[in-house]
Amino acid sequence: MEKIVNLCKRRGFVFQSSEIYGGLSSCYDYGPLGIELKRNVKEAWWRDTISSRGDVVGLDCSILMHPRTWEASGHIANFSDPMVDCKLCKGRFRADHLAETRCPKQPSKLAGHCDGELTEPRSFNLMFKTHMGPMEDSAAAVYLRPETAQGIFVNFVNVVNSTRLRPPFGIGQIGKSFRNEITPANFLFRTREFEQMELEFFVPPGSDDGWYEYWKNRRLQWYTDYGIRPERLRLRNHESDELAHYAKGCADVEYDFPIGWQELEGIANRTDFDLKQHIAYSGKDLSYFNDQTKERFVPYVIEPSAGADRGTLAFLIDSYDEDGPENDRRTVLRLHPSLAPVKVAILPLMKRDGLDAKAMEIVEALRPYFAVSYDQAGSIGRRYRRQDEVGTPLGVTVDYDTMKDGTVTLRDRDTMEQVRVPIDDLFDIVRKKVAPPVYRGPLAPAA
Ligand code: ATP
Repeated sequence: MEKIVNLCKRRGFVFQSSEIYGGLSSCYDYGPLGIELKRNVKEAWWRDTISSRGDVVGLDCSILMHPRTWEASGHIANFSDPMVDCKLCKGRFRADHLAETRCPKQPSKLAGHCDGELTEPRSFNLMFKTHMGPMEDSAAAVYLRPETAQGIFVNFVNVVNSTRLRPPFGIGQIGKSFRNEITPANFLFRTREFEQMELEFFVPPGSDDGWYEYWKNRRLQWYTDYGIRPERLRLRNHESDELAHYAKGCADVEYDFPIGWQELEGIANRTDFDLKQHIAYSGKDLSYFNDQTKERFVPYVIEPSAGADRGTLAFLIDSYDEDGPENDRRTVLRLHPSLAPVKVAILPLMKRDGLDAKAMEIVEALRPYFAVSYDQAGSIGRRYRRQDEVGTPLGVTVDYDTMKDGTVTLRDRDTMEQVRVPIDDLFDIVRKKVAPPVYRGPLAPAA
C-alpha cells in the first residue's frame, strides 16, 4: 500500500486534501492522472451497466434530499456503527474494527491493546447533518446523502412514467456519498467523502432470485474483464445473521487488498422494502401496474453497489508490478488499456532536426481521439520507464528513419516489444489497443 500511496503522490494520481494546511484526514484529491483513471473506471461501469444494455437508464440526483427520505430509508434510526473510546490513549474506534485499527499512542498498537480501558460501545450515526437556508434550527436540518440509492427509489415512478421501461429494468447512478466514518483508513479504501456506482434493478416478485444470481455473476465478471486477477477476487455470500432484516440475500465482491480480503462491492436482494417504505412515508403509490397481465405489484430490487474510489484503488494495486533484473528494475502499472489514464506517449528521439516537430504532428493528429502525452526530456529509456510507471500502454518513438520513410517505433508496455509501423496505421492500432472489452454474455437469467 505504501508503494501505491507514494506512486500516487509522485506521479499525480492522488494528493492529500488541503495538504498545505496540514491535510484533512481521510479526504483526498485526484490529480491529473488519477482523475483520468477514475473517470475511465466510472465510464467502464456506466458502459457495462447502463449504456450497453437496453433495460437500464441513468440518473443524476441531488445530494441533498427531503429529510423524510432518510426516515423512510431507515438511515436516521439505524445507519450507525458501534463506537468505543479508549480511556488512556483517547483513541476512538469502531467496535467491530478493533482488530484492524491502530491506536494513536506511540509506539502504535492495535486498538484496545495500549493497556487503556475501552468504554462500552455506543451507537454513532454516520450521516453528515447540515442546514438548508439561513436558519440553523432543527426544521432546516438536511443530510449529505450516505448512499445514492435513495435518489433512485424516490424517482421510480418518474422514470416509469417518462420512459417505456417496465420491470424488469434498472436505474443506475454514479455520485458522491458521505459517511462520517469513525475510523477512516487505508488511503482511498475508507474515506468520509467518496463516489458510489449503484444500480437498482426492479423486478417482478418471484423473478428476484434469478436476477440476484445474474447480477452477482455479472458484477464479478466486470472486474476480471477489466483486468483484475481472478485469484485476488472472490464472491462471499453473507451468512443469514449478517443480513439486514429486509434483505433476502446479500453477497460481497471482495478483493485481496494489502490489508486483507475486503469488500469492493455489495450485491443485495432488497425485496420490496425500499419502495414500500417510501409508499408508507410519502403516501404516494409507487406500485407498478402491468397492463397486459392486469397485475399490480411493488417491484423487488436487486442492488449492486460499488465504490468508484475503492474500485480505482483495487485497479491500481492489482496492476502494480515491478520487473526486470536487479540492476534495471522497472515499475509498471499493467492497467487494462481502456482504463489507462494516458493511451499513447509520443517521444521524439532527439529534440532537434525536425524530430520534435514531426512528433508534435502525430500528437495533434491523435489528440482529438485519445489521451496522448508528449515527452522529450531525458533518454528514451527513461522516458519509456516514466510511461510504464503510469500505465501508458503504447509508446511511439520518432527517429531519423521516420523522416525518411514515415514509420515510427511502436513499443508495447507489457512485453516491451518494439515494432516498426507506418504513421498512417497509428490511429487504428491505438483504437484497437485501447478498446474496452465487449460483453457478449446473457443479459438476463436463464428462464
Ligand atoms: P463497509 O462494510 O466497508 O463499511 P458498507 O457495507 O457499509 O461498506 P455499502 O453501504 O454496501 O458499504 O456501500 C457500497 C460500496 O460503497 C462499498 O462496497 C464500497 O465500495 C463503497 N464504500 C462504502 N463506504 C465507503 C467509504 N467510507 N469509503 C470508500 N468507499 C466506500
